[in-house]
Amino acid sequence: MTLHRTLTRTFSALTLATATLTVHSTGQAQQTHWPAKPVTWIVPFAAGGPTDAMARDIADRTGKQLGQTILIENVPGAGGTIGSTKAARSAPDGYTFLVGHMGYMAAAPALYKKLSYDPVKDFEAVFRFPDTPMVLMVSAQSPFKDAAALVAHAKAHPGQLNFSNAGVGSASHLVAALFASKAGIRITSVAYKGAGPALNDLMGGQVDAMFDQTNTALPQLGPRVRAVGLTSRETSPQFPGVPALGAQVVPGFEAATWYGIYAPKGTPANIVSALHQAYLKALQDKEWTQRMAAQGIRLLDTAAYAPAALKQHTADEGVRWQKVIADAGITLE
Ligand code: ASP
Repeated sequence: MTLHRTLTRTFSALTLATATLTVHSTGQAQQTHWPAKPVTWIVPFAAGGPTDAMARDIADRTGKQLGQTILIENVPGAGGTIGSTKAARSAPDGYTFLVGHMGYMAAAPALYKKLSYDPVKDFEAVFRFPDTPMVLMVSAQSPFKDAAALVAHAKAHPGQLNFSNAGVGSASHLVAALFASKAGIRITSVAYKGAGPALNDLMGGQVDAMFDQTNTALPQLGPRVRAVGLTSRETSPQFPGVPALGAQVVPGFEAATWYGIYAPKGTPANIVSALHQAYLKALQDKEWTQRMAAQGIRLLDTAAYAPAALKQHTADEGVRWQKVIADAGITLE
């Protein structure tokens, strides 16, 4: 049996991003169009968090270009590694994808002794999302008016401050651990199944602080939450009066969350390419990209969104996080 994969190129917006799979078997030709039914993207965190919000937005826009619905399935737990395992074991037929990020797709192999997937070998990289910086927050009732006060307290009372996060190995966990290591403080991590529930407990005053991505943090600021620092190198007009942590308390500190869409290994290349093309087409809507930028999201050069670029980035980040984790002494305590 031979398998020919051809990407249909037409000038129609709807069919631009569809793929045609031609299967020749015992002389019989049979054609299946992709996507012939709704496509699922696995988000390995609870609904309502930043990964979920960003994935739903991008899925909606990309699905419109494909002429097919992209459904979000939340499979939370263990810092994203449970949903990632499910995605890695799914059929490589173009109907299941993973919304991956730097935690479970780069840092996890250095953190977890037994990980049932390899972020590079078990997946096809499809496309990268724009990056999302993070913001350090305390509850509005917190005695800490700025990050310097928070750090000073942690220095005087090692291990006493509780930082909520989206799970062990999540971006909120890793960035907090990195910040603590660079600031020379000891904090206590409190893991949840996503940034949504972690933020709820911050607002309720059950924990002292939390790092979260800007897109879902921004609407919460005000009566219940106070932003005390950004992880980006620069300050941001969306966060007036909030300093960059690297410029103020911890010189040189900088972090951002990167995300990407991944397919189970063996997913046909023309399907990967069609999904990437649909996404690029969606990104041509400037009104949409400006709305993302207004949430603090950082748009990238078009070349950085490509499958090969995401594959390389995933491998590079795996190496970088291995060193960061070793240097900062981050462990799964
Ligand atoms: N992206 C978040 C994190 O890793 C988790 C979430 O979206 O709920 O911190």
